[in-house]
Amino acid sequence: MVHLKTDEEIEIIKEGAQILGKAHGEVARLVKPGVKTSSLDKVAEEFIRDHGGIPSFKNYNGSFPASLCISVNEVVVHGFPGNYELREADIIAVDCGVYYKGYHSDSAYTYPLEGVKQETLLLLERTYESLYRGIEQAKAGNRMGDVSHAIQNYVESFGYGVVRELVGHGVGKNLHEDPEVPNYGKRGKGVKLVPGMVFAIEPMINQGTRNVVQERDGWTIRTADKRPSAHFEHMVAIKKEKTEVLTTHKYIEENYSFKWRSRSR
Ligand code: MG
Ligand code: MG
Repeated sequence: MVHLKTDEEIEIIKEGAQILGKAHGEVARLVKPGVKTSSLDKVAEEFIRDHGGIPSFKNYNGSFPASLCISVNEVVVHGFPGNYELREADIIAVDCGVYYKGYHSDSAYTYPLEGVKQETLLLLERTYESLYRGIEQAKAGNRMGDVSHAIQNYVESFGYGVVRELVGHGVGKNLHEDPEVPNYGKRGKGVKLVPGMVFAIEPMINQGTRNVVQERDGWTIRTADKRPSAHFEHMVAIKKEKTEVLTTHKYIEENYSFKWRSRSR
């Protein structure tokens, strides 16, 4: 069942999403070779708690151990922060959620480290672009399949694999709600988008095949062929006039030292 949000609820989610965006920005300052992924997690958790929020991911399902999902190179999503030290040419996806005044927010960003291969940088640029192509279709009167198709159609034109096992999702009082937001689908199909819907669009795109495997830790998802995977996520609110993007990557882009995208969207 899809829980539609009032304008007041959407305003609260936006406030939480600002804390989330700034927590991402604090992480962005530290992303460089030699940094342990656990130290990024610590900074994000402290920032969120200092600003009146609670990390949404910590103890999710009674078992996720951290405030961030940190997914390096061939890890698609749900990696654990830990002792791994970032290296030149890595890509690192940072996914974070904030619970604030009764509502969750959720967003993700994949960083290329300096020295990244050109083909991997292209994967990131195109995955980022696919997120915005999805957002452009997320408007009242369209169907979810229009969003899904826009993402799939764009990235598959480059031969990339669209992960099927994990999808975007409604967000609100629960971190994961209906509707599902697949990154693959058919135009004109799926649930109708109506004002009050709030959901996360989050393409997870593999350089190679779409196949993924889950590690024995019960969380970490990596590509079956061990080639890199990218992940970007924004939350949107469907409104009558215009869809609003509730989350922001602005603080990441201001604070990350390696400027890899020339244009901002
Ligand atoms: Mg999400
Ligand atoms: Mg997320």
